[in-house]
Amino acid sequence: MAVLINNLCVIGTGLIGGSLCLALKEAAAVNTIVGAGRSEETLQKAQQLNIIDSYETDISEAVKDADLIFVSVPLGAMETVFEKISTGLEQAGNTKAIITDAGSSKQLVQQLAEKIFTDISAGGSDRFVAGHPIAGTENSGPAAAFAGLYKDRRVILTPTDETDSDAIKLVTEMWQKTGAAVETMDAEHHDKVLAATSHLPHLIAFGLVHCLENIDDIEDVFRFAAGGFRDVTRIASSDPTMWRDICLNNQQPILDMMKRYKDELDMLYNALEAGDGEKLMEVFQHAKQTRDKFTH
Ligand code: NAD
Repeated sequence: MAVLINNLCVIGTGLIGGSLCLALKEAAAVNTIVGAGRSEETLQKAQQLNIIDSYETDISEAVKDADLIFVSVPLGAMETVFEKISTGLEQAGNTKAIITDAGSSKQLVQQLAEKIFTDISAGGSDRFVAGHPIAGTENSGPAAAFAGLYKDRRVILTPTDETDSDAIKLVTEMWQKTGAAVETMDAEHHDKVLAATSHLPHLIAFGLVHCLENIDDIEDVFRFAAGGFRDVTRIASSDPTMWRDICLNNQQPILDMMKRYKDELDMLYNALEAGDGEKLMEVFQHAKQTRDKFTH
């Protein structure tokens, strides 16, 4: 049986891109993988780890023969990377390549694709399928990649009415080969949902650790850090560049969620200041019921 993808080009061979490569290799779903990115050292490491078969430091060169291009760089680098992809495909007359990405916010990425992929084989951005795997760890780089990252996880695709149905089909099948379940929604809805479920929790974790940094007993805070502190702050070890870019790329939905959270903290502050145990009990019970319902 023919493999799903003949030539895969992965731009950004870190945790997300590297794990995709390993999963597709394990599933025998790809023939050759060319890596590309900013740092030759990272690409060499990815090759040593058998994540990619070869690499190019010039992104326009790397995409020339690609059937599928997967972009997994920080959101702030997407615009430059898309421009280099567009140039490379046009120079090579590559009219077949399908492009997808892994960026953690989707509306701005879609806008970039529509702005930059105006001429790809005269199909414009139709063969760009925006995507976001809901999987990850707080670690980054190729050494953090592993084949099982996407197993039993969800991947959200946010195609538009213009997106080519064959492109959606290929990207869907690619993710299914990694063991993920694929869902489709519109980009605006995606950005609102992720602001609540992922982006706000990361800001809370970064903010919590940062606010404790300057208290006098910081040594003891970390020495005695028990389950609760560790659970809530694990994700504050995530890559700062990636998270700065996510915040700037999903600004309004995140601000809306932060406002809700600030109001909630104010309410808890007032209840505690007033010694209102009934109010605290009501909130804690509600929160426990809600979380138990969704996690069990
Ligand atoms: P990572 O740091 O592990 O890998 C990023 C890769 O991009 C590296 O190989 C780096 O060399 C390359 N890169 C950085 N800047 C570049 C540039 N200017 N030009 C070309 N290459 C560049 O990061 P990651 O965790 O794999 O995240 C990649 C993307 O996936 C991001 O857009 C992120 O929003 C998204 N994402 C991350 C997670 C997560 O939990 N880590 C989950 C879902 C989606």
